[in-house]
Amino acid sequence: MLVRLTDAWTELLDRRAGNADTGAYPAPVRSLLGEMAAAAVLMQSNIKFNGALVLQVFGDGPVKLAVAEVQSDLGLRATATVKAPVDDAARLSQMLNMAGGGRCAITLDPKDRLPGQQPYQGVVPLEDAQGRKLERLSDVLQHYMLQSEQLDTVLVLAADDKVAAGLLIQRMPLKGEGNLGGALSHRENEDQIGRNEDYNRIAHLASSLTQEELLALDADTILHRLFWEERLLRFEPLEGAGGPRFACRCSRERVGRMLQNLGAAEAEDILAERGSIDVACEFCGKHYPFDAVDAVRLFTAPETQPPVSSKVQ
Ligand SMILES: [Zn+2]
Repeated sequence: MLVRLTDAWTELLDRRAGNADTGAYPAPVRSLLGEMAAAAVLMQSNIKFNGALVLQVFGDGPVKLAVAEVQSDLGLRATATVKAPVDDAARLSQMLNMAGGGRCAITLDPKDRLPGQQPYQGVVPLEDAQGRKLERLSDVLQHYMLQSEQLDTVLVLAADDKVAAGLLIQRMPLKGEGNLGGALSHRENEDQIGRNEDYNRIAHLASSLTQEELLALDADTILHRLFWEERLLRFEPLEGAGGPRFACRCSRERVGRMLQNLGAAEAEDILAERGSIDVACEFCGKHYPFDAVDAVRLFTAPETQPPVSSKVQ
């Protein structure tokens, strides 16, 4: 599976650059977030999960958190919290894993969650089995797939200011449709690790793809260059409204619920200090202002509020 984000990726970057509070991402954060967005689209397309697939990297270092979220319709958004300057040459460990506290989490949050139902989550450290720090997100995710899903995987990921792209090659699970979420027998898959000759050959070819090639070449050229001796069945690409695109899920209601969780006292403090509460969505930059009247409405139970008609008069 191959993904090539262009408009969705530049929109994401432009929105961040246009945010007066944060400014543009430092270059290494841009690359990481682009690779995360591409990887999250690949994983969501691969498992066709009915809900949100959320890929997170968090830890210790100047970058507190990076998140990419892809819905089942491939609407995507991503953001990173940068709390200290990031060197232009910073690697993954220097951004997020200085003292070994860095983690990568994949969460599957069902669209229609039943009461009490928890989202599925898998977490791995940003290091290999020998405890060495990993510097490529692709290595972290390959390790994740092997460790938690018992599936051999090759991922090539790359991002610059125009394109965020990824190639995913994964051995098909022996049973079951998907592979994330532990829906199948791990032992049977484990027995197959490294043993499938077709997979090994194709994985070897895929690993030879460089990040430069992945960014510069279109899908057909890449497929031909890597797999010209293989029999290829090319699926129709998902583009436009049916393909990956920037889509934020923020709303005034969600921001209101967030403020309610913050509590009335905290909200009143902010109101006393600034006169209004302005919440900006960290994904898309949209502003949601709440004044004192809005705040009263938020913290008053619905049954004690006057009917809407009386407010209008
Ligand atoms: Zn938003």
